[in-house]
Amino acid sequence: MESFDYDLFVIGAGSGGVRAARIAAGYGAKVAAAEEFRVGGTCVIRGCVPKKLLVYASRFASAFEDAAGFGWDVGDTRFDWPRLIAAKDRELDRLEGAYCGNLERAGVEILRTRATLAGPNAVALADGRTVSARHVLVATGARPFLPDGVPGIEHAITSNEVFDLPALPERAVVVGGGYIAVEFAGIFAGLGVETTLVYRGDHVLRGFDVELAGRLAAAMEKRGVRILTRTEVTAIERTADGLRLALTGGGTLDAGLALYATGRVPNTAGLGLEAAGVELDALGAVRVDARSGTSVPSVHAVGDVTNRVNLTPVAIREGHAFADTVFGGREVIADHGLIPTAVFSTPELGTVGLTEEQALRHHAAVDVYKAEFRPMANVLAGRDERMFMKILVDAASDRVLGVHLIGDGAGEMIQLLGIPMVMGATKRDFDRTMAVHPTAAEELVTMR
Ligand code: NDP
Repeated sequence: MESFDYDLFVIGAGSGGVRAARIAAGYGAKVAAAEEFRVGGTCVIRGCVPKKLLVYASRFASAFEDAAGFGWDVGDTRFDWPRLIAAKDRELDRLEGAYCGNLERAGVEILRTRATLAGPNAVALADGRTVSARHVLVATGARPFLPDGVPGIEHAITSNEVFDLPALPERAVVVGGGYIAVEFAGIFAGLGVETTLVYRGDHVLRGFDVELAGRLAAAMEKRGVRILTRTEVTAIERTADGLRLALTGGGTLDAGLALYATGRVPNTAGLGLEAAGVELDALGAVRVDARSGTSVPSVHAVGDVTNRVNLTPVAIREGHAFADTVFGGREVIADHGLIPTAVFSTPELGTVGLTEEQALRHHAAVDVYKAEFRPMANVLAGRDERMFMKILVDAASDRVLGVHLIGDGAGEMIQLLGIPMVMGATKRDFDRTMAVHPTAAEELVTMR
C-alpha cells in the first residue's frame, strides 16, 4: 500500500477541523492540522464566543435599570470598553490554549502555517515543504466581505475588526439584517451607542418566522435601535469627526463607525482546490455530498467552506461524522434536518423546525398556538417587554412542526426543545408534560 506522511491532513483548525482531527487521531490515525491564524477558528476567535461575551456585557445596563424595582439603588455606573476587550482577549487566549492542548493530547501535530492543496494527496506548506496525506480535510471556513459598488466602502469594518476596536463610537451604523447585524445592533445599543440598523429588505432576519422577526424588530426599536428598512447605503465619506453615509432616498447618517454584516463568503481562494480537481459551486463553496466528500475521493470538506448550514455545531457534527466514517469504520451522516438555533439579539430569539410560512406551505392544516406574556421579572422591574412563543402543529398527525421563541432564555430553551422535536413529539406530548412553576418555559406545556 502507498505510504503517506499523514493519514489525515486538516487545513484549518476551526470548529470543524479541530473536531475531525481529534476524533481521527483517537482512532489511531496520524494527523496534522494547519492553521494560518489562530487555533479555534471563527467561532472561538472572532465569532460566537467573543460575541456572546459582548452580549453579556451589553445586558447589564438594563439589569441596572430593572434593579430599582427590586429595591436596589445601583448608583452611578460607568462602562469601560478597553477593560472588557482585555478580559475577552484573556479568555480567548485561554480557550486557544485549551484547543491546542486537546489536539496535542490526542496526538495531532499542529502546524502554524498556511497550507494549500498541491494535488489529491499533497499539501504545500508556506515554508516551501510539501507533505503527503492519504486524506485531506478542507475546513477553512468563511470570511465576512464588504460589498462592491459602494464608494468609500473601505471606511467600513466587518465583524473581523469589531472585536478589537480601541474605543466605542458615540454613534454606529450596522448594515445588514441577518444574525450578525441584529446581534451587534443589540450589543452597541446596550453599551450606550446610538445605533441605526440599515437593511435593504422589508423585515430583518429573512427566512425566520415572519411574525417572530417582526416582533424582534419592534422590541429592538423599543430598546433604542433605529431600524431603517428598504434602505441601502450608496456611499460612505470620511468627515472631520467620523463617517457620513449616504442612503437611498437621499438621507444621510453620521456615525463614528459603519459595521457591515452583509454575509460571509467561503475561504476557497488560492487554496489550490480547482487545480487539484476539487469542484466549487457558483459562490465558491466546496461542493460536497452527504458524507462531506468532494469531487476528489481523497479530499473532504466540512463547515462554512461548504456553505451548507453555516453554524458552529453543524461544522462540528460534520467533522465528527467524517472522522467516524473514514477512520472509525462506521458510517455516520451528519443530519441537517432539524437544527435548533438562537440569535443572541436583545431580546433573544430561539427557533427550531418550520416557520409558520413553511408549515402552511407543506401541510394541509396547521394549528398555531401562541402565548404572549410579561415575564415575572419584568413586572417589578417596570419593563414592558413581553415574551412571545409560538408552536406550530400538523393538525392531521398532531406532530409539532416548529417552535419559535423570543425573550429571556430563548436560546437555552430552544436547545432543550430540539430534543422532543428530533424525537418527533406531538402536541399531546407537550401537553402531558408537567409544568415547572414559576418559569417562562412552562407556557410551552400549558398552551391550549
Ligand atoms: P446573513 O447571510 O445571515 O445575513 C446577511 C444580511 O446582509 C442579510 O440581511 C442580507 O439581506 C444583507 N445583505 C447581503 N448583501 C448585501 C448588500 N450587498 N447590501 C446590503 N445588504 C446586504 O449573514 P451574517 O453576516 O449576518 O451571518 C453570517 C452567517 O453566520 C449566518 O448565515 C449564520 O449562519 C452565522 N451566524 C450565526 C450566529 C448564531 O448562530 N447566533 C451568529 C452570527 C452568525 P437579504 O436578507 O436581503 O439577503
